[in-house]
Amino acid sequence: MANLNINAKKKNTYDAIVIGSGISGGWAAKELCENGLKTLVLERGREVKHIEDYPTATKHPWEFEHRGQVPLAVREAYGRSFLREETLHWAIKADEQPFVQEKPFTWTRGYHVGGKSLLWARQTQRWSDFDFEGPARDGYAIDWPIRYADIAPWYSHVEKFAGISGNKDGLPHLPDGEFLPPIELNCVEQHLQGVLAKNYTDRQLIQGRCAHITSPQPIHLQQGRGKCQHRNLCNRGCPFGGYFSANASTLPWAAKTGKMTLRPDSVVHSIIYDEKKGKASGVRIVDAHSKEMIEYYAKVIFVNAGAVNSNMILLNSISERFPTGLGNDNGLLGKYFTCHNYRGKANAQVEGFLDKTTSGKNPSNGYIPRFRNVLKQDTDFYGVLHRDWSWPWHEHQPGWHRGRPEAAIDPSPTRQLECERLDARRVCAH
Ligand SMILES: Cc1cc2nc3c(=O)[nH]c(=O)nc-3n(C[C@H](O)[C@H](O)[C@H](O)COP(=O)(O)OP(=O)(O)OC[C@H]3O[C@@H](n4cnc5c(N)ncnc54)[C@H](O)[C@@H]3O)c2cc1C
Repeated sequence: MANLNINAKKKNTYDAIVIGSGISGGWAAKELCENGLKTLVLERGREVKHIEDYPTATKHPWEFEHRGQVPLAVREAYGRSFLREETLHWAIKADEQPFVQEKPFTWTRGYHVGGKSLLWARQTQRWSDFDFEGPARDGYAIDWPIRYADIAPWYSHVEKFAGISGNKDGLPHLPDGEFLPPIELNCVEQHLQGVLAKNYTDRQLIQGRCAHITSPQPIHLQQGRGKCQHRNLCNRGCPFGGYFSANASTLPWAAKTGKMTLRPDSVVHSIIYDEKKGKASGVRIVDAHSKEMIEYYAKVIFVNAGAVNSNMILLNSISERFPTGLGNDNGLLGKYFTCHNYRGKANAQVEGFLDKTTSGKNPSNGYIPRFRNVLKQDTDFYGVLHRDWSWPWHEHQPGWHRGRPEAAIDPSPTRQLECERLDARRVCAH
């Protein structure tokens, strides 16, 4: 019996375990596997294979019953998720996996292989020393243990592999990176850029740096990824691998090493803590189908389950040493974090551009880097307000709004959507 247990344990032992297969989990898997570690990636959701599992990727607007819009009742059933008809298969029904909330909270979960890397808006700006030095300079919270110089080479490492397009703008508070050619600003953005340049010295509109391949390099071709086709259908999953997702990039790269075992439908319950060694030694999962509880072991465990779930897993990881959750000596686990903050928006038809459309051309957007609280404190709050000037592709797919294919040749005029993001980066794990 003892031998049986030892064998079972050996079978379930890896060099490293990664919890979650989203943006960060995919990267962890790639790096660990490339460095020769036998790695188990545990993902609570279903498998999503690049290209094969993008069911709506090539559908036309009129192939969707509501031209992409989600009826209110369906939206409610999915917990007011931002998702649309063509991306509803990435959403979780609110009553399938309910959560308690005191205030309205739209939680986009991305419970599938690839996580939110399939759903994100692909904006990829670097932090600068203005960010890293913020708490020490302004006297709040805890000083960052690193500065920009420590992380800059790692930004480069990631950018080269992922493929980030953008301009070298030379702004000290938004460092330049390893950019592929930029995506062009649309006509309204160009206009606004000019107006800002004429009237201000401290604010600019630049092209947002975004994870789209505009000029494939050998490293992207090796991943089987090609140039962004500007279809602006990104959230459905891109068959060209034009934007960065774990599914198109890091996970297949890790798999190619032969070192990765990916186990979808594996809900991590908690981390096992070895009281004798004083170390984490493995994880407990619940198999989503059989409901069996299984243990896996490794010396290295990466928790990449997203902000809420990573906290939840640590809170669930109770031991004699950590009775309120692993690493929770200060009682802060599960508090003071935030998810991606977005959705303040306004849009307008812009005088002088009513005869133009940019529909279908621009998967990125202009970006106004922070201009307050940079060199001096301008406001009564610490931190940053960024503005993304986004082109809302879904509102501009010709045809959807009229419900007939003929409307595809009758696009609406240029409208510009303004999307504000209050950047709570100090506490934000996105
Ligand atoms: C609409 C939208 C737009 C966004 N736009 C941008 C942007 O432009 N730029 C930007 O930088 N960020 C953006 N983000 C945020 C970005 O998507 C997240 O910051 C990023 O995906 C977080 O990576 P992650 O690996 O921590 O989590 P995720 O990518 O969410 O991956 C977490 C994975 O863990 C799995 N998991 C969860 N719990 C468990 C468990 N118990 N056991 C096993 N697996 C588990 C999940 O199923 C998921 O696959 C956006 C997000 C949304 C929703």
